[in-house]
Amino acid sequence: MRVGVLGAGQLALMLAQAGEGIGVEVVCAGQPGDCAEQVATVMPVDLNNAKAVAEFAAQVDVVTVESENLELDVLGGLNLCPNAQAVGVAQDRLIEKRFFESCGVSVAPFAPVNSLEDLERAVASIGLPAILKTRRLGYDGKGQARIYTPDDLMKAWEHVGGVPSGVPCILEKMLEFDTEVSMIAARGLTGEVVFYPLVENFHREGILRTSIAPYAKATLALQSLAEGYLTDVLKRLEYVGVLTVEFFVQGDRLVANEMAPRVHNSGHWTIEGAATSQFENHLRAVVGMELGSTQSVPTVMLNCIGSMPPEAETMLFAGLKRHDYGKASRPGRKVGHLTLPATETEAITEWQKRLQGQR
Ligand code: ADP
Ligand code: MG
Repeated sequence: MRVGVLGAGQLALMLAQAGEGIGVEVVCAGQPGDCAEQVATVMPVDLNNAKAVAEFAAQVDVVTVESENLELDVLGGLNLCPNAQAVGVAQDRLIEKRFFESCGVSVAPFAPVNSLEDLERAVASIGLPAILKTRRLGYDGKGQARIYTPDDLMKAWEHVGGVPSGVPCILEKMLEFDTEVSMIAARGLTGEVVFYPLVENFHREGILRTSIAPYAKATLALQSLAEGYLTDVLKRLEYVGVLTVEFFVQGDRLVANEMAPRVHNSGHWTIEGAATSQFENHLRAVVGMELGSTQSVPTVMLNCIGSMPPEAETMLFAGLKRHDYGKASRPGRKVGHLTLPATETEAITEWQKRLQGQR
């Protein structure tokens, strides 16, 4: 089977690596020089051009996405897993929040904002502090502004919404929470679902830095709550493939933050830590294979932001696995990650310290 990925970054690269083990060929639609080129065929395709995407799709058995930020008219008519509706929900924070609510999943109080006047009204009803976010195209904390006092309103709107035309935004109440977690699940063509354990995620400057699997404080009840939520979301969307939902933990409650219709950075630990990685299970789902076991061992993933640490240093740590995406160094860019068994507490602390300074 041939799976076509719209995109050719590190997620496509790791999908292609996983495909090798199960006889699934991954072909990517991207640009010359994209990092998936190291392991997969990358066809030059303008992802904004519906005709070019359709031509690419004609050469594969099924198409999947590496990013939710694709124009929906480009996705129409493709044999796409997950389907275009799921991608559409995940690419717009307002639609996404309303969808979570319709599934009975709690979200932060929110309001649509399309003008400075809307923003003033939204702040009056939601209260402060709050976060203004663009509805679309935000990632790694970009396209967001925090509002603590009424004096911040104007600046936030100029920064995020833009003056005078304005891009569609959403205002969210800034929640207090114990920590942030995510759940990754895969749903197969026949509707079977498998779940990975809840993972605890730590961000800095809007970028994921560390994921700890499993979330050490997760009770059976919290894991079941998340599984129930994902089951409903997956079913409602007639979803096929891997889905990620980020949650805020408030005691024994989970408040959904956002979802990604794809493999996710907080699931990279599954390559070493689970019997079947998120990448393999995504491919298994979209080609109609039986899903693999998610049985896992406690594992920690550390992101390498900006640049990779020297190989001469990482090689000194026996339990450490190094994933270098082969991308050029650039501030704030995800260029690779490290995985360590959670038992290697000293090495984890050491590497967290070493990676701290990364910009
Ligand atoms: P991104 O697409 O950039 O990941 P998120 O909506 O996940 O955007 O926001 C990034 C981070 O900002 C979250 O991981 C969380 O730490 C913080 N954040 C986002 N929304 C809220 C909120 N409503 N209350 C408190 N913190 C939030
Ligand atoms: Mg997020």
